[in-house]
Amino acid sequence: QILSATNPNPNSALTVARAYSVDTTPIRATLFPGDGIGPEIAESVKKVFTEADVHIDWEEHYVGTEVDPRTQSFLTWESLESVRRNKIGLKGPMATPIGKGHRSLNLTLRKELNLYANVRPCYSLPGYKTRYDNVDLVTIRENTEGEYSGLEHQVVRGVVESLKIITRQASLRVAEYAFHYAKAHGRERVSAIHKANIMQKTDGLFLKVFLFLMIKYRLLDCKSMLPCINFGLVYLQCCREVAEKYPEIKYEEVVIDNCCMMLVKNPALFDVLVMPNLYGDIISDLCAGLIGGLGLTPSCNIGEGGIALAEAVHGSAPDIAGKNMANPTALLLSAVTMLRHLELHDKADRIQDAILKTIAEGKYRTADLGGSSTTTDFTKAICDHL
Ligand code: NAD
Repeated sequence: QILSATNPNPNSALTVARAYSVDTTPIRATLFPGDGIGPEIAESVKKVFTEADVHIDWEEHYVGTEVDPRTQSFLTWESLESVRRNKIGLKGPMATPIGKGHRSLNLTLRKELNLYANVRPCYSLPGYKTRYDNVDLVTIRENTEGEYSGLEHQVVRGVVESLKIITRQASLRVAEYAFHYAKAHGRERVSAIHKANIMQKTDGLFLKVFLFLMIKYRLLDCKSMLPCINFGLVYLQCCREVAEKYPEIKYEEVVIDNCCMMLVKNPALFDVLVMPNLYGDIISDLCAGLIGGLGLTPSCNIGEGGIALAEAVHGSAPDIAGKNMANPTALLLSAVTMLRHLELHDKADRIQDAILKTIAEGKYRTADLGGSSTTTDFTKAICDHL
């Protein structure tokens, strides 16, 4: 239910799924195992899928921080073409050098493939106790601009500038996606997270498009709105007019600092949160912390032309790489969103249930969840629960 289909977009890779359901031809999907723990957890996904009789023809490409000796590159055109052709894929974490070196491969993939929305569901796992037992959130992160535009330069010695770019086009696109998602998945509330009290022009523009969408979809409930910027009489008149008719999905605007406090105090206050790029990066890690950590939270990147590239929220975890200690749950649940994107819900449910049962049972858990199982043993336990 919670990890429901990530793409209500009708131009998705559904045609592939239909072909699959008719003649059980394996689905062809791109796989980038990535860096650090990536290859270990990608192995786990392959094993569980095979045991669950989900036959994926993985088109595997190395994309990562080491130069591939065969291609002499970090990222090849073939890798990008593979995602464009298959429209569906799974990516492991990719490391980024700090303060020097090549541009982030994650950023490059997002830009090249136009992966405009990153959907990050986060919910309390049955049987795994944390301070909260009522988390059920979806963070939708604008994925192509904001502080991640990569436009940085030195102004004069000792002074550097980093540009935050917000465009109406990208803001509208992610806002549209967030509302489609909320409607398609029976969600009740969309919260736009911002800092428009300080970043009046950039975050202000981000917020303005929500107001435009509210009016377009006639979803605005004026009473639940906390506008922090005066958008003028015309807007308010529209709000009132629309609010009277269709207050189907509640909309609110929350300043990011307050959002952090509210999330930690009572995560049940939120449902779908949508926000510019950097805020999404930070808030989704905070959300992961509410339910037990980064080993548990999946995501799916939604791109133009129906592309879905699933990936875990976490990074390459260099501290545990190669030690058979990584928790593969986040990548497995990401792979489950891939199946849901293809509308293979039976198969997705089967794998998701086995993962959740294994964690709830508590006999096999990886170290991040307080257990002592290896990645291999935990994976085997999931297979045994299929
Ligand atoms: P990280 O997410 O890799 O690790 C943070 C902490 O969480 C570490 O202690 C790690 O051991 C733990 N952790 C993460 N995933 C885990 C898992 N599956 N099982 C058990 N423990 C897990 O964050 P970081 O250390 O800040 O970043 C490491 C590298 O990853 C950096 O180069 C960073 O740029 C990159 N990164 C990539 C992505 C991505 O590819 N989407 C996302 C975040 C960070």
